[in-house]
Amino acid sequence: MSNCPRCAQRVDSQAVKCPYCRTTLKAFGHPGIPLHRAEGETFLCDSCTYHEDDSCNYPQRPYAQTCTLYQNYLETQEQQLTPPVYKSPGGIEGFKLWCQRNKGLAFVLALLIISFLVTISR
Ligand code: SF4
Ligand SMILES: [Zn+2]
Repeated sequence: MSNCPRCAQRVDSQAVKCPYCRTTLKAFGHPGIPLHRAEGETFLCDSCTYHEDDSCNYPQRPYAQTCTLYQNYLETQEQQLTPPVYKSPGGIEGFKLWCQRNKGLAFVLALLIISFLVTISR
């Protein structure tokens, strides 16, 4: 769910039009193409990455109030500054990964465990 930019009602995030005020929420009638919309009398280009790096050649630049390609400049910068978080898998997957990385040690440990089991079973 997301909020309609015009009437602020909660609407399905896949909705092409707002069911309350009929504002177009997606571009070309396709739920997979978001249509970004400026608030009030502002222009999207003022905060857009492609305006900042001068790579946009859309005709509505620099006065776009709706745009399918808009990317917030500050959000892009934040993403570039935030280091990616690598999460190591846990459980069986983590154990398998550890064994693949430390084959020699895993082999020695397996031998020790088998020897120990043989010894205590006598
Ligand atoms: S991509 Fe859209 S919002 Fe960004 S500069 Fe171009 S026209 Fe403006
Ligand atoms: Zn609405």
